[in-house]
Amino acid sequence: MARDTGASSRLPTLELPKKLSVSLGAGHPWVYRDHLQPSALPKRASWVRVRAGGFLGYALYDPVSPIALRIYARDSAPDAAWFRARVEQALSLRLKYRAEDTTAFRLLNGEGDGVPGLVADVYDRYVVLVTYAGAVAELVLPDVARAIDSVLSPLGIVERTRAQKPNGPEDGASGGRLRVVSGAEPPREIETREGGMRLLANLHEGQKTGLFLDHRENRAFVRSLSAGCRVLNLFSYTGAFSISAALGGALGVTSVDIAAEANSAARRNFQANQIDPGAHEFVSRDVFEYLESAKHHEPRFDLTICDPPSFANSRDQLFAALRAYTKVNALGIAATKHGGYYAAASCTAQVSPSAFRELLAEAAARAGVRFQIVHEAGQALDHPQAAGHPEGRYLKFVVGRVLERV
Ligand code: SAH
Repeated sequence: MARDTGASSRLPTLELPKKLSVSLGAGHPWVYRDHLQPSALPKRASWVRVRAGGFLGYALYDPVSPIALRIYARDSAPDAAWFRARVEQALSLRLKYRAEDTTAFRLLNGEGDGVPGLVADVYDRYVVLVTYAGAVAELVLPDVARAIDSVLSPLGIVERTRAQKPNGPEDGASGGRLRVVSGAEPPREIETREGGMRLLANLHEGQKTGLFLDHRENRAFVRSLSAGCRVLNLFSYTGAFSISAALGGALGVTSVDIAAEANSAARRNFQANQIDPGAHEFVSRDVFEYLESAKHHEPRFDLTICDPPSFANSRDQLFAALRAYTKVNALGIAATKHGGYYAAASCTAQVSPSAFRELLAEAAARAGVRFQIVHEAGQALDHPQAAGHPEGRYLKFVVGRVLERV
């Protein structure tokens, strides 16, 4: 029985097309604007009741973002106690899986934790919130921040404001500025720990909220593969995969990133882990150019990691993105020795896991090798997905052996 009492029952009801009842009932929390009748819409960000055939729910209406409605609850409109319950439920998952010595983790993963349009990342004693629509910033963030404050008592909670991206939490890198929501402003750099590794995070200017927390288990996998290897890390950013490889016993790691400041942060990360950056190579160059020029030499790497930025932020860019992924992976595979390993990642939600495997097969064919997949994963355990919301499964991580064609 729905308990629809008090304030919730006084909310206006938006009638949605009946056909949406199937996906909404299965837990897909988004309704795009083109499903709504413009005449019936509220003027401002607000909580509404929605009905689609037999489906009834409570949603946040945003007057600007292409996702006009985000469904939060079935029984009543969320209030402070409801948000606190979501934070506690999310924390219980992290407490179950997070290693003692891991001090940076995602506490709330938007849709996957039942709080659409908002992520909360913990960096030691600070929490960074990012919202994906004005309505979420206005009507959800304050309650979530209060709940996190009372559950975790961090030194500070900040909001990272960002350029709006249409498709939700993982839709590309962030950029943007920090606004203090409560407590203290974080220092420019925070040293975090993860499985015996130290990683410096810049919450003010780093990509995402500071680090790519979603690759945690993938870093551990790379570490387990690296002993005795010459490693190439493409799109290396601040060197998280590079350090994992070095700590795993790599003979040498070459980190390639177009941004010189990413490479200098990577060097400092090496130092923070007592690894001499002088024993490794840092290349500030376009990956495509770097690999094109490497084509003229014998492949020299035993393990290559390729984790490019999202090449597509919308469906329209999908074909160009698939071409770019295929090209960079063909070149990356060609730089890897026969018998070596190749780890390919893609954070583009528009590219499905099966489409990603297909493009890797095509890339291997172009490189003239056999590609034997040995491991496949996605985002870290603190980035859960709602069943019924396939967009939430955005990260692909495929590791294979590069073998001679026979
Ligand atoms: N693998 C990293 C995250 C990669 S983020 C990690 O796990 O931490 C993407 C990185 O790609 C950014 O640092 C950006 O500077 C870099 N980049 C984007 N386009 C590039 C290009 N064409 N060539 C080289 N680096 C590029």
